[in-house]
Amino acid sequence: ANKLGSKKERTLAMIKPDAVTKVGSIIQMVYDAGLIVTKAKMTKLTGKQAADFYMEHQSKSFFNNLVQFVSSGPIIVMELMGDEAVSVWRKVLGPTDSGVARKDAPASLRAQFGTDGTKNAGHGSDSLASAARELEFFFPSTAGHGPTNTAKYQDS
Ligand code: ADP
Ligand code: MG
Repeated sequence: ANKLGSKKERTLAMIKPDAVTKVGSIIQMVYDAGLIVTKAKMTKLTGKQAADFYMEHQSKSFFNNLVQFVSSGPIIVMELMGDEAVSVWRKVLGPTDSGVARKDAPASLRAQFGTDGTKNAGHGSDSLASAARELEFFFPSTAGHGPTNTAKYQDS
């Protein structure tokens, strides 16, 4: 925390394939929440990359649907920065299930732009450790990798 008590954090936000056309409204929600976009790109994941990104969920019943969905079309990934960015962005997203979000947090991103429990418009890192891993996944640092960037994820 700095002397004003704020805690600047970075987090990884993803606009999932079902909500890419809502990018304008979603970026507005980022700034309205007091966060800023410090990196952004549109890309598309292979099934293998999606499985790697979501490997913590590999034993879940919804894993195959999730991997299929998130690799089904273009996505937009962003590094967001601001005070308590990790929890602030998850608050903007709302509950995981878009149906629940429409009941409990009607102004949230998932309530407005998601469809159901899997097709839920957005992703946000759930901790500082996840944010570090997920930012490295999409925006690999080149330092220490030598002349060739050897990170797993690269644009193709
Ligand atoms: P969050 O994205 O809110 O952090 P999780 O990390 O638990 O949620 O799950 C990752 C993603 O997997 C969710 O955003 C959603 O797309 C999908 N998912 C989670 N739980 C379910 C479920 N019970 N049924 C179907 N899909 C789910
Ligand atoms: Mg999660």
